[in-house]
Amino acid sequence: MSQILKEVLDANEKYSFNFGDKGSLPIPPGRKFAIVTCMDARLDPAKFAGLAEGDAHVIRNAGGRVTEDVIRSLIISHKLLGTQEWFIIHHSDCGMQIFSNDIIHYLLSESLESANIDEHGTWYNPVKKGGSEAGQYINFLPFKHLEKSVIDDVTVVRNHPLIPKHIPIYGFYYDVKTGKLVEVPEATEIGKAN
Ligand SMILES: [Zn+2]
Repeated sequence: MSQILKEVLDANEKYSFNFGDKGSLPIPPGRKFAIVTCMDARLDPAKFAGLAEGDAHVIRNAGGRVTEDVIRSLIISHKLLGTQEWFIIHHSDCGMQIFSNDIIHYLLSESLESANIDEHGTWYNPVKKGGSEAGQYINFLPFKHLEKSVIDDVTVVRNHPLIPKHIPIYGFYYDVKTGKLVEVPEATEIGKAN
């Protein structure tokens, strides 16, 4: 068995042993809010936002970008599961800021194996075979400017025809150096309820 597989199953054994009464939690989030954020391993929304099981929806992807699938999840979060306030939280030092679509398209065309980044910040493939051109059809949604990416994504949600105007959307970034949430006032202004 893979070491990671073993570690995860062992941890889960302990978790379920102390599961308490959480088996009786209902589907709708008790605190009626949702967070959209990045999958970055340094971010733990349960800790940085004070969540317990059953409290809130946490929707994560690379960058915490608002994709069609995030919109799908947010609509379900409100329409069927009752959330009334949403946060969009990007973060400093995001991996989405260190490549472009051209770069990842090129890397994938050369090889599907993990790429490396050198001391000058240049990506390269240690193995140069077995690539695919299929990557060029995907927009990986990288971004350069952190606050602008939050503003852009709050704007997309605010303007979506299936999302009620009374839901406030708060725009923030998480500072990976301090653990603090920093508001992006322009984003929150765009996202305010009306
Ligand atoms: Zn990130």
